[in-house]
Amino acid sequence: MEQEQKRYLLGMTLQEITEAMVELRLPKFAGKQVADWVYVKRVKGIDEMTNISLKNRELLLGKFEVGRSDPLEVQTSVDGTRKMLFKTSNGHFVETVTIPDRERLTLCVSSQVGCRMGCDFCLTGKQGFQGNLSVTEILNQLYSAPNSEAITNMVVMGMGEPLDNYDNVQKALELLQAEYGLAWSPRRITLSTIGVKANLKRFLQESRCHLAISLHNPFPEERLDLMPIEKSTPAASVIEAFQEHDWSKQRRLSFEYILFDGVNDSPLHARELVKLLGGLSCRVNLIRFHVIPNSNLRPSPEENMIKFRDFLTAKGVTCTIRTSKGEDILAACGMLSTAHKH
Ligand code: SF4
Repeated sequence: MEQEQKRYLLGMTLQEITEAMVELRLPKFAGKQVADWVYVKRVKGIDEMTNISLKNRELLLGKFEVGRSDPLEVQTSVDGTRKMLFKTSNGHFVETVTIPDRERLTLCVSSQVGCRMGCDFCLTGKQGFQGNLSVTEILNQLYSAPNSEAITNMVVMGMGEPLDNYDNVQKALELLQAEYGLAWSPRRITLSTIGVKANLKRFLQESRCHLAISLHNPFPEERLDLMPIEKSTPAASVIEAFQEHDWSKQRRLSFEYILFDGVNDSPLHARELVKLLGGLSCRVNLIRFHVIPNSNLRPSPEENMIKFRDFLTAKGVTCTIRTSKGEDILAACGMLSTAHKH
């Protein structure tokens, strides 16, 4: 007889867990106890839930698993950045990174295996798309990171386009913020996207987390060469929607701009970028490009980056050059790929 697939508790809301307990004829309050074990006490197995009777734990074990799985590999960079490799339930692999920065430890999570957005500068994009991560798999990257309890912030900036897996990403972020979970403030979370319009609108309405938009070129036809998304969601339309949005609720908006030598790093580009942003309250993060195989793109020289930053700053745009971390273990921005694992 085929064995029934067990459900994962990690990824279920308190209400869903409580309903499941009632179905198993466990007391309703067991829902809160189980959620507490999974989300706050961070147990890996149902047998660790010691305030639940042995009989009830056995009932639970018949239908559920916590859903935790440890990384298969952990690599550590000379700068302390760590890259982890997780296996997904359908046999694929994703990478997750932790980045130390003074008192912060930021987790960079993946939302998909590969990505279908095909950005020219990104190794994940070159891998193609192999599937969405489930809520469990997104949260597991946080819960099963070796230094999980020290993590202070999270960026959804790893493999995949999070707004292309909106429902699962949004539910994972909600669970992270839930009172019965880790009760994180939305200010500790940043979602980074190239801007998938319909879901971007939903995100603005349904979430209070910070938002980062990958821009990389202010000229539409040039951006299209780098990022096919420009065709269906032009950056100008995204910024127009932002102009109409109410940003007073403490949400931070930033734009990511990778500087490529001779492609998007001229004074003309800097000027056009300022024009495109149109006085929007935001910050611009300039990122040094990390060379990837089979690409002619090269990083902009340091002096061009500084000039670009200084121009933006002089025009009143808050702008920083982001320090790069984890390059020696291929954990830096745009370098994540599990193509070789297939
Ligand atoms: Fe996908 Fe982001 Fe890479 Fe573009 S930059 S291919 S959206 S992972």
